[in-house]
Amino acid sequence: MKIAIVRERTEGETRVAATPETVAKLIGLGASVTIERGAGELARFPDADYKAAGAEIAASADAALRGAEIILTVRRPAPALLRGVARGALVIGAMDPYGNEGEVAALAATGATVVAMEFMPRITRAQVMDILSSQANLAGYQGVIDAAANFDRAFPMMMTAAGTIRPAKVFVMGAGVAGLQAIATAKRLGAVVSANDVRPAAKEQVESLGGKFVAVEDEEFKQAETAGGYAKEMSVAYKEKQAALTASHIAKQDIVITTALIPGRPAPKLISKAMVESMLPGSVIVDLAAERGGNVELTQPGKIVAHKGVTIVGYTNVPGRLATSASQLYARNLLAFVETLIDKQSKAFAVNWDDELVKATVLTRDGAVVHPNIKVAEAVKSAAQPKAAAATRKPAAKKEAAAAGAAPAKKPAAKKASPSRPGPAVKPAAAKKPAAKGTK
Ligand code: NAD
Repeated sequence: MKIAIVRERTEGETRVAATPETVAKLIGLGASVTIERGAGELARFPDADYKAAGAEIAASADAALRGAEIILTVRRPAPALLRGVARGALVIGAMDPYGNEGEVAALAATGATVVAMEFMPRITRAQVMDILSSQANLAGYQGVIDAAANFDRAFPMMMTAAGTIRPAKVFVMGAGVAGLQAIATAKRLGAVVSANDVRPAAKEQVESLGGKFVAVEDEEFKQAETAGGYAKEMSVAYKEKQAALTASHIAKQDIVITTALIPGRPAPKLISKAMVESMLPGSVIVDLAAERGGNVELTQPGKIVAHKGVTIVGYTNVPGRLATSASQLYARNLLAFVETLIDKQSKAFAVNWDDELVKATVLTRDGAVVHPNIKVAEAVKSAAQPKAAAATRKPAAKKEAAAAGAAPAKKPAAKKASPSRPGPAVKPAAAKKPAAKGTK
C-alpha cells in the first residue's frame, strides 16, 4: 500500500500534507510512503527528516505518484498532475469545490477518487480530522500577530516611570474557531477585547474568554443559528441595525479583526469605506476573510493597503504564514482520516464506502462526480465523464452549476449557492463546542 505526497503547486502555498511525524505513523500502519523531493521544504521539513522517518524520496511528482493508492495534498491538485495515477487512487486534501465544479469534473475524469477534507462532518469522532478548525485556529492567532506587527503602539496597558500607556482596543468580528482564538490571543497580549457574531451561542463563548459581546440581540438574532451551528444569512433589516451598532463601536477601536464567513457564500461585507474612515489614523484592520472576498469593502486580497491612515491587512492563506504549525496539525488531521481507511489486521487499504465520513467527503468516484452538493453542468459532465458513469447521476440545473460557490476571492458566488458543508445526511455536531484549543 503506497501513499504519496507531492510538492504543492498552488502559488503561495507553503504547507505540506505530511510531516516526518505522520509519515512514521503511516508506515506504522503498514504503508510505504513516497515524498516528492522538496515537498516539505517551505514548511521546514527537510527531505532528510522524511527519509529518517522511513519515506522514500522521489525526484519528480510522476515518480512519487506512480502506483500510489493514497495521495495526500494540501490544495486541490491540477487534473494534469493526476494523469498517471492509478484508477481509484484516493486523493485526499482541501479541494475547495464550490465555484470550481469544472475542475472537480476534470479530476473525476482522471479516475481518481477525490476526497474533500473540508466536508468532514463536525461530529465528535471526526474532530481530530477537522481541517477547517485546525487551520482557522492558527489563522485567528496569526491575525492578531499580524495586527500587532502593523500597529504602531503597544497592546497591553503599561505603567512606567515615564507614564501610563492605555491598552489597545481590539474588536473581533465573527466568533467561530478563528475569532475565538483571536479573542484569546489579543487578551493574552493585554488588549481590551470585544467581539460580535450573528450566532447567539457565540455570546457565551466570547464572554468566557473575557471579551465583551457586541450585537443587536433581537428575535432574529435568537433564531439565527442553523442546525449545524453555522451562521445563516441575516435579513436586510437586521444587517442595517447591526451595521449601525458596529459602526459606532468600530469608530472607537484601534484594531479590528474580521473572521466572518457563511458556508457556501462569499464573505459578508461588514465594514464599509465610511466605517474605515471613522477609525483614527494608526488603526489596523486584519481581514481574515480576504481569501473569500473579504469582510471589508477596501480589502485587497493578498495585500496590505493603507486608507487615510488605517492599515488594512488582507493576507490570503493565513495558515500558510505559520507553515510548520499549520502543516503539523493538517498532517495529523489527514493521518487520522487515513487510519480509518486501513484495515488494522491485514494492514491493507480497505475503504468502507458506507462510513458517514467517507460518504460526506468523497467528491468523485469511478470517473464521476458523486457528491450531492457538487452540481456540475451537463456540458462539463459529459465532457469529463465516461458514458457508463454519466448514466448514474442526477441531472443538474445549469443555473446551480454556474452559481455554486464558496466564492474564492476572484469568483464571487451567486446567491443560491449550496451550503459548503455536507448537509442532512450527517448529524451535525452540537453547536456548543468549547473554545478554540489553548484558549483557556
Ligand atoms: P465559519 O468559519 O463558517 O465562520 C466564522 C464565524 O463568522 C462564525 O462564527 C459565524 O457565525 C460568523 N459570522 C457569519 N456572518 C457574520 C456576521 N454578519 N457578523 C458577525 N459574524 C458573522 O465558522 P467556524 O469557525 O467554522 O465555526 C462555526 C461553528 O461551528 C461554531 O459554533 C464552532 O464553534 C462550531 N464548530 C464545531 C465543531 C465540532 O463540533 N466538531 C468544530 C469546529 C467548529
